[in-house]
Amino acid sequence: MNYNKKSIEDVSVAGKRVLCRCDFNVPTKAGVITSDKRIVAALPTIEYLMDHGAKVILCSHMGKPKGEWKPELSLKVVAQRLSELLGKPVIMAADVVGEDAKAKAAALKDGEVMLLENLRYMKGETKNDPEFAKELASMADLFVNDAFGTAHRAHASTAGVADYLPAVSGYLVQKEVSIMGKALADPERPFVAILGGAKVSDKLNVINNLLEKVDTLIIGGGMAYTFLAAKGCGVGKSLLDEEKIGYCKDMMAKAEAKGVKLLLPIDTVVADAFPDPIDGPVEVETVDSDAIPGDKMGLDIGEKTRALFAGAAKAAKTVVWNGPMGVFENPTLAKGTIAVAQGLAESDAVTIVGGGDSTAACEQLGFADKITHISTGGGASLEFLEGLELPGIACLEDK
Ligand code: ADP
Ligand code: MG
Repeated sequence: MNYNKKSIEDVSVAGKRVLCRCDFNVPTKAGVITSDKRIVAALPTIEYLMDHGAKVILCSHMGKPKGEWKPELSLKVVAQRLSELLGKPVIMAADVVGEDAKAKAAALKDGEVMLLENLRYMKGETKNDPEFAKELASMADLFVNDAFGTAHRAHASTAGVADYLPAVSGYLVQKEVSIMGKALADPERPFVAILGGAKVSDKLNVINNLLEKVDTLIIGGGMAYTFLAAKGCGVGKSLLDEEKIGYCKDMMAKAEAKGVKLLLPIDTVVADAFPDPIDGPVEVETVDSDAIPGDKMGLDIGEKTRALFAGAAKAAKTVVWNGPMGVFENPTLAKGTIAVAQGLAESDAVTIVGGGDSTAACEQLGFADKITHISTGGGASLEFLEGLELPGIACLEDK
């Protein structure tokens, strides 16, 4: 995939009607937005377009209305919050590509901004129906994709409209593509990837693809036990993808053949059982990873492993991290994840974090502003790391 894509700065937007796909899929409770982080993140692109005289037509999905007009998933609350943040009016359309949206889009003046209703009120959106894409595109002269979280989906508003309009990235997508694209295509070395999370099967293709690119691959979290089992270690009651033991053996052989250093936990924090509730009290001890007792469950990396993994992150020039090192939802079992987050924060490397839970961990732990790039799309960033072509990025014009 070509990562060198045109952005809003590479085209003229003045006087143009610009259809800008945003990620306004914000959490709400009883009709009130509980986090406006995604709206705030979209401001630089929106403000650039307004300041440069574009007629801005924003669009997004929220939730999963599945083609039905569900009033509780209306984007009106987003328009209101966005207007407060911009300090300017945001014109709200009563529909997506209906009479009201089209009339309001046609009446827009330079520098004005409007928001269409929830794209997923229309069945054609997720089906990437060409008729719907054409209707959307008919309101505009230029398409800007600034929603990375949906870039791995070929939907009408993420890729379909690019069949009818010139397409470029907004700042959010540009940052994702340039930083992650550079890491994958032309990384500063040593390049270290740290993978964790619950299951090997969630990240099979990521492991396989990263082994082609990295100098060191680090495996922690629940997925490490299947690798340990593949090495012949007993893992007690720890998470184990028995069917994937063969795969882990193949990956270890691949690492060896490619000269990639593969690091697994050398010590492990174990308990009698998974904590219930997940953040409840838990009694733990630390054992060597090749000596996990048969009746114990591994729930975090031990102290020696923390030093090993964090040290590798600090010595790297590029680090990609996806997936927590343990059951970080529990304070007793969060130490491995904290150590890795801290290792990234203290590293001079270009540091990239993807994955919903690892991102949440970085933010909760207060390390987010010391990370070069925290990806805004869990699924999209995984597909990126798998080396797949993302439709919402592939459709943008090459530089
Ligand atoms: P991400 O969202 O960052 O990609 P995942 O969803 O793959 O991460 O995995 C996160 C989950 O993995 C967390 O809920 C965490 O509790 C769980 N996990 C990590 N280590 C273990 C372990 N040793 N045993 C069981 N679950 C684990
Ligand atoms: Mg997750």
